[in-house]
Amino acid sequence: MRLHSTLTTLGLIISLGSPAWAANVGAPFYGDAPDDHHPWAIHDHNRPQPKLITPGTFSTPEQPGQPPSDAIVLFNGTDLSKWEADEGTSVPTKWVIKNGAMECVPGSGYIRTKEKFGDCQLHVEWAAPTKAEGESQGRGNSGVFLMGQIEVQVLDNYNNPTYADGFAGSVYGVNPPLANALRPPGQFQTYDIVFRRPIYKDGQVVDAGSVTVFLNGVLVQDHTTLEGPTGHRTRSKPGPLGDVGPLKLQDHGNPVRYRNIWYRPLPPRVSEGGTDGCLSPEATQAKRQEIAAMIRQDAEKLKNPANPVPEMLRLAESLTYEQNDAAGQRAHDLLTQYLSDAKSLPTEKLNAKKDEIKHLRDVCKYLVHFKIMPADTDEEAQLNQMIKEHNWDKK
Ligand code: MG
Repeated sequence: MRLHSTLTTLGLIISLGSPAWAANVGAPFYGDAPDDHHPWAIHDHNRPQPKLITPGTFSTPEQPGQPPSDAIVLFNGTDLSKWEADEGTSVPTKWVIKNGAMECVPGSGYIRTKEKFGDCQLHVEWAAPTKAEGESQGRGNSGVFLMGQIEVQVLDNYNNPTYADGFAGSVYGVNPPLANALRPPGQFQTYDIVFRRPIYKDGQVVDAGSVTVFLNGVLVQDHTTLEGPTGHRTRSKPGPLGDVGPLKLQDHGNPVRYRNIWYRPLPPRVSEGGTDGCLSPEATQAKRQEIAAMIRQDAEKLKNPANPVPEMLRLAESLTYEQNDAAGQRAHDLLTQYLSDAKSLPTEKLNAKKDEIKHLRDVCKYLVHFKIMPADTDEEAQLNQMIKEHNWDKK
């Protein structure tokens, strides 16, 4: 049985008084209908299921964890094939791999990914040298540069004060971390970063972008608004960063180590054409049209003269997303024929359709409630009359 007909059948079963848990599978004509800002109904069974992935495992200071199954791994401890020096194209880096980590060779320059990417969930682990040398910004300094331009500071601040907006976990020069949650130097620390680049349209900011950072599982940047490329001693200036850029790691003269680096691209936001969320009326309408067309196509496959109900219900469902004369007429004609056929059935056979007829009445009620179908139609009156005549609401 096809999925949609399974769901249509489930919808029928659920509306007939199944236990509450069953409603969780979703059913048509169940939650509030789509509106001017939401293309999907509440609890919409047509809404795509979330992608199934296998989660990773958490790291410990001793052992890197496993990335989630859909992560793009940039460094797994064995090779630097996805990295290059931050100078020209394809210049090999002088950073080295030691014991499953890449290590900055002081004076060799930044390292960057060959791949360029934008909005992401990024995981990075780093460790400052075990022997704490230097102070303030001179101790275990490096940096994670998002799109090569926004620095999330890497610094050994374990018993090492410095200016607050230059602490480990700061957006450098912009915002201090909410806490200093560092482990001692030499131990691996984790950054889990959610990065949203700025979005500009016609020179105007639509979304300034943000960065959220967890340091060793502790929230240190809470959706911090971006203020443009970060810099030393100079105030950042908001502006577009482009759509993609390489991830860069800083050479600040200290042999900081990195391991277990991966990212997951993020879906587009509503402000750049994403369709999950509260949309503009225009975007909502476009998405509703797309969904309705998909459901009408589906209804086409359900055509069955011996059982017109699945097609009728699917067409009725399509009308909750978009009014369409042909679909409305076809659903109406199928219902008219259904009622006419039902009336000519002997009592026993008609009784067998009791639940189906009550469901059709409930669907009509739903459509009337959400102003998809006019109130007091002849068909709804006939369904009500039939149910009343046989006392089906009370049995
Ligand atoms: Mg730095």
